[in-house]
Amino acid sequence: MNEQISFIMDIQNIDLDILQFEESLKKIFNEIEELRNSIKLKESELGKLQEDLTELNKKFGTTELDIKMFDDKMIKMKDTQKLIKTNKEYNALQKSIKDTEALKKKSEQELMLLMENKESLKGKIALIQKDIEGRQGVLSLKNTEFKDMEKEFEISKNDYLKRRETTKNKIKKNYLDVYEIIKIRKGLPAVTPVLQSGACTGCYRMLPPQQFNELISENVFMQCPICSRILYIDAVLPESDHAESVPAAAGKNSKKSNNKV
Ligand SMILES: [Zn+2]
Repeated sequence: MNEQISFIMDIQNIDLDILQFEESLKKIFNEIEELRNSIKLKESELGKLQEDLTELNKKFGTTELDIKMFDDKMIKMKDTQKLIKTNKEYNALQKSIKDTEALKKKSEQELMLLMENKESLKGKIALIQKDIEGRQGVLSLKNTEFKDMEKEFEISKNDYLKRRETTKNKIKKNYLDVYEIIKIRKGLPAVTPVLQSGACTGCYRMLPPQQFNELISENVFMQCPICSRILYIDAVLPESDHAESVPAAAGKNSKKSNNKV
């Protein structure tokens, strides 16, 4: 392969490694953000349920007091019963006792219902608390993973940058500029192989036959006319330097490559 392109590919590999690190960091960072938000939502849900429970407990207490009040009332009325002299008074008191009993029964039914609601609410609260604990556990693991990866990246980054600088110095400035521009505009890969069929693997369009032949035979620094990526011939295709040993496919046996680049 053309030496200059092989240097650019080294740079690209370093850039891809750095990118992979950055993307992994970004992925964990986003997962952490998502987890934090979901915990906040769950906590607000929990807060509302706890308010509901407080409200229910209040109602429960009031209803219990009501029942006690009805009981006291009935005891008093039954005491009064002994002192009654007329039928009219007796009937009126009987009616009052019956009404109070009905009210007490109603309150007791309410109390049962409140109890059921309380139990169901407590169950929901316990589930959400467990859910939040689970999420906090995952969050703590993710935070550790993020910190570890960040540390690892800090350590490797210097090495990457040193290697990049060394390789960069071997590449002609205008070639490197082309690479950097494509990297910004199209993203990686900026250097891409051409298939045996003559298709650029950056945009999957066919190179004009003449250009393809030139690339095969002369191993020049060439950009795809459609996507602008820097092209090279994949290892499965004969390289111009060794074209003699791989007959026919290349068409031409030029050895000009080193002069061309
Ligand atoms: Zn292309």
